[in-house]
Amino acid sequence: MSVVKKERRIDNNQGTLRDMDLSGRKALVVGLGESGLAAARWLAQQGSHVTVSERQAGSDLDKDALADLLRSGIKLELGGHNVKTFTEADLIVVSPGVPLDIEPLSVARERGISIIGEMELASRYLKTPSVAVTGTNGKSTVVRLIGDMLLKGGKSVFVGGNIGRPLTRYIGGEQRADYVVLEISSFQLDTTQTFSPLVAVILNVSPDHLDRYVDYDSYARSKQRICANQGPGQILILNDDDPLLSRLQPKNGPTVLRYGLRDRPGLYAFLDHGQIRAKTPGEQMITLDLDRFTLPGDHNKANLMAAAVASLALEIFPSAIQEVIDRFEGLPHRTELVETVGGVAFYDDSKATNIDATIKSIASFSKPVVLIAGGRHKGSDFTPLVGAASGRVKGAVFLGEAGCLLGEAFGNRISWSKATNMTDAVSLAFGKAQKGDVVLLAPACSSFDMFRDFKHRGAVFREAVRRLKNGAS
Ligand code: ADP
Repeated sequence: MSVVKKERRIDNNQGTLRDMDLSGRKALVVGLGESGLAAARWLAQQGSHVTVSERQAGSDLDKDALADLLRSGIKLELGGHNVKTFTEADLIVVSPGVPLDIEPLSVARERGISIIGEMELASRYLKTPSVAVTGTNGKSTVVRLIGDMLLKGGKSVFVGGNIGRPLTRYIGGEQRADYVVLEISSFQLDTTQTFSPLVAVILNVSPDHLDRYVDYDSYARSKQRICANQGPGQILILNDDDPLLSRLQPKNGPTVLRYGLRDRPGLYAFLDHGQIRAKTPGEQMITLDLDRFTLPGDHNKANLMAAAVASLALEIFPSAIQEVIDRFEGLPHRTELVETVGGVAFYDDSKATNIDATIKSIASFSKPVVLIAGGRHKGSDFTPLVGAASGRVKGAVFLGEAGCLLGEAFGNRISWSKATNMTDAVSLAFGKAQKGDVVLLAPACSSFDMFRDFKHRGAVFREAVRRLKNGAS
């Protein structure tokens, strides 16, 4: 696929054309998460007059980070948004966590002020070819796999984006990597305009974040923005098992490479007798051995195919890809075995924050499952989870704000209880399990009702399991 080399040139040209002089401009950064902090610092380095507007009060924010911003000459407006600051800005950079329909942004939009996200901002100055991964589930896992495969293949790589390393941090440095590999959420895609990765990957689309989007269609459209600016010479990798993605035919002509679990004409990767068969850029079929691949479930085999197709398109040798498959251990809080207590295996899948992730997680066990679920409901219907649990989930414990909704959805189909906290949930779940069963934390909800984030929720679960083990032994 010589297309790749042609595209590299196109990408660099676009990078230069998109550059705009930020020096002396009034830039407003809305929201002080990781990416907001990085954007504010980078804009200040470019000579912009930067203000940060944050809804939370200063007392709720990291003191050192605030002091650092002030030292860089950045103005802070904390504890609420001032509409005047928005309407006086030349450029507004909005963080992914900030809803785009808040009043000050609507007013600024009406006045024609440019509103973009940190990913769009950074990509305008990016001179390194990019691989961008989106989808409802599996983004972090696939980004990590592609990063590892490119590294094993001898390339230098910056892995970042939604995974916790903002792209502005990279463009503020020397830009020496051969590739940047980016995890891109739908909230980030909502604020892109010109973003156009060399390789885009869409893993799957299923209901999520319906508390923020007007409906499922607008959420699904947001995911497709990853390829909106792609053209000839660029590559789009799509999961052909996903009903929406199998119908997606981008108009402007990126090369589309599709993968799926079962062999069909035209696929670039599929499963054959438990191994992956994939096409190289020279259209030669290769086999990737999955005997040592440890991640559970068909969904992780699909993730692996996406990563392998992307790496092969970038001319990484199959032997380097195979080495990564053999050694990849998965990421924390994604169907991770914590402990076995009295013959019951406890798994932490705290990152299963939507219904499809929980369904896939349950499906990856052949043993009976006791499910711990609940948290903050994001607006999706729990009915598909009830169907998928049938015959696999023998009991459940629900907690958090969505506990009652989950209880209503399951009715009397399985035995379930409500827990008031994680320790309670772990001991109730243990009570419903027998030797040989699995207790699975896969909440199908976000964690923000009771925890800082999914990592905190996972850590509290693990601690509760360890206490149970110490008490039980
Ligand atoms: P993301 O970055 O998109 O949230 P992760 O790799 O962190 O993705 O995984 C998030 C959750 O989704 C985990 O619970 C994981 O088990 C589940 N998951 C991973 N890949 C898939 C997939 N292809 N389809 C459905 N669920 C998946």
